[in-house]
Amino acid sequence: MTSGRKSSELDLGAFAPGTVAEYTTSVCLACIFDIFTAQFGLAPRTAYSEIKRYSPSVEELTGPKATRPFFDSEEKNPHCPYCNAARRWHARFNTARIEGGKATDALRRELIRLLPKKNDQFLVIEIKSNKGKIFFDWLETLGHNLDLNADAWLIEATRALLERHEPKTEWSEVFEGLSTIRPSNRLDKGWQRDGSRLFLAPPIYNEALVVQYLVSRSHAHGGRTFAGRLTLSDLIQRLRYSGYLDALGITERDQFEILEKLVEQLAGGTGSVKLYYIVDRREFLDKVKSVYARYVG
Ligand SMILES: [Zn+2]
Repeated sequence: MTSGRKSSELDLGAFAPGTVAEYTTSVCLACIFDIFTAQFGLAPRTAYSEIKRYSPSVEELTGPKATRPFFDSEEKNPHCPYCNAARRWHARFNTARIEGGKATDALRRELIRLLPKKNDQFLVIEIKSNKGKIFFDWLETLGHNLDLNADAWLIEATRALLERHEPKTEWSEVFEGLSTIRPSNRLDKGWQRDGSRLFLAPPIYNEALVVQYLVSRSHAHGGRTFAGRLTLSDLIQRLRYSGYLDALGITERDQFEILEKLVEQLAGGTGSVKLYYIVDRREFLDKVKSVYARYVG
């Protein structure tokens, strides 16, 4: 869902890694015009002014699975999956999500203050959330983007975890030509690339196992991880023997309570967080105009 940067995109460079996320989704204007004219029975002119005001929901803009009239495509010249309309009928929505808090509040206010105000080119949507929910949303998107039937997903899931920890690292370079990932007791923290192998400090390796377990546990029978197929109790036993649970101060005995603590750790704690979504509607407004001209002409 994320995409490459264009010069016209919002500059989020001042924000600390991990406090911002970016999403891109496409919308098919042929489908939208069809919905407003054929289904709602509006005249094209009325449809046009309604569509200009149209404001997608956060779920539509950032959810793991796009639904009509939205779609995600990796192709250069995609066709609408619903009505087959060509690219000139599509518009992209870029959305930035900023986590509220001391580290971002002043920067965010300044960023929003400087946005062009005319014609609602940008929308700002505030949502109350919490760290656990943010983590599970991330996990759901990850699960959706991975092909759990191909073994490569175990490495890709680990990469996603590392990207979450260190968003500024050029992970595509680190993962180029990588064949295996192993834990290394020589590392206290972080990672080290050696030949075609990537070594992870044991805590990160263990986090990767937990993420792999969580992503795949509902896929088939039990979770699949670098350490093979594990039930929850296998996973916990493994983490206990490696000293990981002790290091985190997890003393619970019940396996579901332990899992809850592990998730809390991965989520970066508990507590509520305000999320600010900045929706860039500029391309949408441009395209609606040109599509309308084509539609009536
Ligand atoms: Zn369409």
